[in-house]
Amino acid sequence: MKITRSTFDEVMFPCYNPMNMVIKKAHGAYVFDNQGNKYVDFTSGIAVNCLGHTPNGVQKVIKKTCKNLIHVSNIFCNEYTLTLAKKLTKLTGYEKVFFVNSGAEANETALKLARRVAFDDFGADKNEIISFTNSFHGRTFFSVTVGGQESYSDGFGPKPAAITHIPYNDIKTFEKTISEKTCAVILEPIQGEGGIIKADDEFLIKVRELCDKNNAALIFDEVQTGVARSGTFYAYEQTPVKPDIVTSAKGLASGLPIGAVLTYDKFAKHFVPGTHGSTFGGNALACSVGCYVVDKLSTPEFLEKVKKTSAYFIECINKLNEKYHAFSGVRGEGLLLGIVLDDKFKGLSGALQKKCFEKGLLTLTAHADVLRLAPALNIKKSAINLGMSLLENALVEFIAENSADKKTEDTKDPKEVKEPQEVKEPKEAKESKAKKTTKASKTATKSEEEKA
Ligand code: PLP
Repeated sequence: MKITRSTFDEVMFPCYNPMNMVIKKAHGAYVFDNQGNKYVDFTSGIAVNCLGHTPNGVQKVIKKTCKNLIHVSNIFCNEYTLTLAKKLTKLTGYEKVFFVNSGAEANETALKLARRVAFDDFGADKNEIISFTNSFHGRTFFSVTVGGQESYSDGFGPKPAAITHIPYNDIKTFEKTISEKTCAVILEPIQGEGGIIKADDEFLIKVRELCDKNNAALIFDEVQTGVARSGTFYAYEQTPVKPDIVTSAKGLASGLPIGAVLTYDKFAKHFVPGTHGSTFGGNALACSVGCYVVDKLSTPEFLEKVKKTSAYFIECINKLNEKYHAFSGVRGEGLLLGIVLDDKFKGLSGALQKKCFEKGLLTLTAHADVLRLAPALNIKKSAINLGMSLLENALVEFIAENSADKKTEDTKDPKEVKEPQEVKEPKEAKESKAKKTTKASKTATKSEEEKA
């Protein structure tokens, strides 16, 4: 069967707009399409493939587990699920775990839990949820309505009620909004989709204090920031507070679907048989890989390496910027980084992402002004260097096409516009482009795949 990008338009819901290629395989930090093109991957499946693509260790665990068990449901216990729960509670100090299959389900569970705790302990009126503008918590109807981007939840009929969105990091508004009727406050310690923005320490201290005062559960959505992504196993470890409930997903099983809610017994005990559940949540195969991931990623050595790699990424981006002055800064922690476009390129992160793709580099956006990088946590220097030279190639063309002069030309009457001038690329960029453009050349040879 011939599969191309247009197969997507033929048979899939049109709710994504994928780049013009079809991935066939991926190893480490490299992705190969079905035309033989090779790409450097700075996305890792949106912060999921924490150990790179198809890592040997994960393959071994999958092979070993699936000889014995793949799935049994939650009507029975299995060793893998319980072992992962043990590891997570030991690592974090939380007492109870509920497993699901995705980030949205983890948040859905946490929000339902907070409402149920408040209902049981204080009555039906304590049901208000505070969330923050530009936050993202997933796509189930409850989690997407709690998320701070209205356009994602509009147009689906009556929304879940008693949800208030207020500006992130705004202490005064928070003080005015929280009350005895608040049952939960949910936030990302680093807003991902919102543009890679960190919560201020002072803000978090106030949030914690007022949640305690008002008996409201503080939920940290660590779906993206968790599992070593930020340089600690969970990002809350870098803040002055500890949330009551943490939601986790993405990298937790290195590419297999999983999600988890961590909390204390005093909260978890409000979920009794029949209150909540999931067929696949805590799937044995996913949890066996989860055990491997937790063992590997929670060591001080691994976390130290993430921080070092992060520093190297930032150094490379800053060097590029000294040359091209296209960014106003780099935000984020660990390997969740946001390259903020300079004011002159406002709203153009999608255009830069597309340019990167054309050069053979896979990136993400976070908001219209931020190019987001979330590479594998064990990405090698050689892949970073190659990716950076592709980013430079992309940047040269992006700047030429979007500079003020070019934009003025574009808005002129077409008859007045002269033939385009050849874009002069800096010598170094030209040389590195000649040497390193990966996508154009069909380089997916066996030996390179092995190297990857
Ligand atoms: N929460 C955050 C912070 C996220 O970044 C995401 C996904 O990008 C989600 C929740 C939803 O996770 P999922 O897509 O696995 O449902």
